[in-house]
Amino acid sequence: MSTLTSSPAATTLASHNPADGSLVGEVPVTPTASIADVVARSRAAGPAWRALSFEERLALIAPAGPTLVARAAELGDLLTREMGKPLAEGTGEVEYCGSSLEKKLAEIAAALAPESFEDDATTSTVHYDPFGVCAAITPWNFPLAMPHSLVIPALVAGNTVILKPSEETPLIAQAYADILNETLPADVLQVVHGADDQGKALVAADIDLIAFTGSREVGCKILTNAGGDLKRVILELGGKDPMIVLDDADLEAAARFAVRNSFRNAGQVCVSTERIYVDERVASQFEDAVLRLTAEQKQGDGREEGVTVGPMISERQRDHVLQQLATARTQGATVAAGGDHHGNFITPTVVTNVDHDMDIMREETFGPVACIMRFAGDEEAVRLANDTPFGLGACVFGGDRDRAGRVARQLTAGMVGINKGCGGASGTPWVGAQQSGYGYHSGTAGHRQFAQPRVLSAEK
Ligand code: NAD
Repeated sequence: MSTLTSSPAATTLASHNPADGSLVGEVPVTPTASIADVVARSRAAGPAWRALSFEERLALIAPAGPTLVARAAELGDLLTREMGKPLAEGTGEVEYCGSSLEKKLAEIAAALAPESFEDDATTSTVHYDPFGVCAAITPWNFPLAMPHSLVIPALVAGNTVILKPSEETPLIAQAYADILNETLPADVLQVVHGADDQGKALVAADIDLIAFTGSREVGCKILTNAGGDLKRVILELGGKDPMIVLDDADLEAAARFAVRNSFRNAGQVCVSTERIYVDERVASQFEDAVLRLTAEQKQGDGREEGVTVGPMISERQRDHVLQQLATARTQGATVAAGGDHHGNFITPTVVTNVDHDMDIMREETFGPVACIMRFAGDEEAVRLANDTPFGLGACVFGGDRDRAGRVARQLTAGMVGINKGCGGASGTPWVGAQQSGYGYHSGTAGHRQFAQPRVLSAEK
C-alpha cells in the first residue's frame, strides 16, 4: 500500500504494509520535471556501456546474483512487509532471481551473439545492437522478479536502463537497483519513483525502448503514447487464465492445482487460474475437493508461520474484487466458500453457477477467487476457454495425455500447461497472446526484443 504525500519542499512516497497499514519506509518521489535530466544522464552513460564486450558487461552485472542470495532472508522480509505475500514466497523470489542470474546472463549473451548467414552470392552477419535508453516500468505483484525480468536483458543487450517500479513497492525495487549499482558504472541503471505521472513522463521522454509489465489498460495507454514517434515497446499484460478439467483427470491433483493457482499471492498473479471449466460428469467430485482444500488455507500476515494467503495489496484492489463478487451474486452466482473480508484480507473464495455474462468470468479479478463452471464435452470446454480477449496462460488437466494435448493445442493462450501450470521449460519465452501481450520476453526470441538487429552483408 502506498501513499503519495506532497509538501512544498518535497514529495514523498510512503510504503505501508498491506497486512496492518504500518509504515515500512519512504522514498523521495522523482519530480516529473527532472525526468528529462534522468534520461539525459542515461543517454550520456550509453556509449561507454555499449562499447564494453558482452563478457565485460556480464562481469559487472553478475555479482548481484550472489548478493541477492546472501541477503535473501532480509530482502524477503522487506518484500513481504511491503507487498504482503507469505515470507517463504518473498524469500524464494529473491533467492530465485539471485541463484539463476549466472545462467540467465549466459542465455541472454548467447541469444545476442552475432549470427552468420550465407547464400550463393552473399555473406551476412546479424548483429544485435542496443536500442539506447530503455524504460522498464513494472508492477507490484512480483516486486523484485518483475524488474529483474526486464532490467537484466536490457542491460546485457547494452541499453542503459531507467526503472520505474510500482508506487506500491518502491522499497524492494530500490534495494534491488542498489545491489546492481554496487558494480555497475554510474547512471547505467537509474530509478524513477512515483505513480502514473512519472510513468507517463518517462514514456513521453527521449527514450528508445519501453519494456512494460502491468495491466492491459495501462499497456494500451503506453502503446498509444509511444506510437507518435514509433518508440519500441514490449508489453506483458494481464490475463484471465482458464483451466480445463477433463472427465479422466486426476481430480485430486487438479483440485490441488486449482486451489494453489487461484489463491497463490492472494490471486494477484498474472497467470492465476481465474476460470475453471470442469466436465459435468466429474464436477461435483471436483468441486468437493476444491472446497475441502480451500478450507485448509491459512490466511494472515505473510510473516506468520504457515500462512498461505496474505492480504490484497491495497484497498483499491480489495474493493475491485469485492465489487466483482457482489455483482456476480446479484447475477445468480453462488459463493460456495469465503466471499467475506476484514481489512485488506479477502477470504479464499469459491464461486459456482457462473456464466460468461458475468464480469467475474470476463474481466481480470486479481484476487483469491476460484470460479468454477461446468461444461459438456471437450468442444464446449475449448469454446468457453477461448471466449476471452485475453490470452496469457491456460492449462488442461486430463488422464489421456494425447487427448489433453489436442485440447491444449486449440487454446488461444500464449502458454498452455498440460497437468501443470503454464510456465515452459527454461529457454522458452514468457509470452501473452491476444490482448495479454505485445512483444514478449525470455527465451532466445524474447531476449532479442531488447536489441535492434542490424545486418551487415558483403559479396562472396
Ligand atoms: P498497472 O498497469 O496499474 O501499473 C504498472 C506500472 O505502470 C506501475 O509502475 C504504474 O505506476 C505504471 N503506470 C501507470 N499508469 C501509467 C501510464 N499511463 N504510463 C506509464 N506508466 C504507467 O499494473 P499493476 O496494478 O501494478 O499490476 C497488476 C497488473 O499487472 C495485472 O493486470 C497483472 O496481470 C499484470 N501483470 C502481468 C504480468 C505478465 O507477465 N504478463 C506479470 C505481472 C503482472
